[in-house]
Amino acid sequence: MVLSYPTLARLYYLTKYIYPEEMIFLKDMKEETSKIDALKKICEEIKALGKITDEHLAALTALFGSRFLRAWKAVKDGMVKKYVFRPSGRVVWIVVGRERDYLVMPEAMFCTCDDFYYHVMGRKAYICYHLIGQKIAEALGQYDEIEETDDIYDFLINEWKEITA
Ligand SMILES: [Zn+2]
Repeated sequence: MVLSYPTLARLYYLTKYIYPEEMIFLKDMKEETSKIDALKKICEEIKALGKITDEHLAALTALFGSRFLRAWKAVKDGMVKKYVFRPSGRVVWIVVGRERDYLVMPEAMFCTCDDFYYHVMGRKAYICYHLIGQKIAEALGQYDEIEETDDIYDFLINEWKEITA
């Protein structure tokens, strides 16, 4: 197949103009990843100190802006819940939102909220305010711990998952 000049020109145009977008995408991804790393580091400090300092609050606000403010409000308002199922010891983290509860998996960096879904579908590294809130609450030890029996685990998981469908 011989490519005509207009096709070649078009290909050149596409390469030329898609490339910067890809670069921006990679830059965004890198930026978010380094923000997440900074958050993890700050959480380690919070845990070691047993408290959150003004410097931490300023740094987190600079990193995440309104996302952090919402997360911090959720922590202060006692919206972060840790469900521990017995006797298995399985743990499920929930952040109570305005409209519904969000299931948060800190290890997998996963949340059932729309904000997280939207960004992940766009293949972006992203941390939603529920995940930020869970991390800070866990580091501070400022969350409600609720014990449940294993027999209602499936029921609750389905309920938390169902609302996301
Ligand atoms: Zn979320």
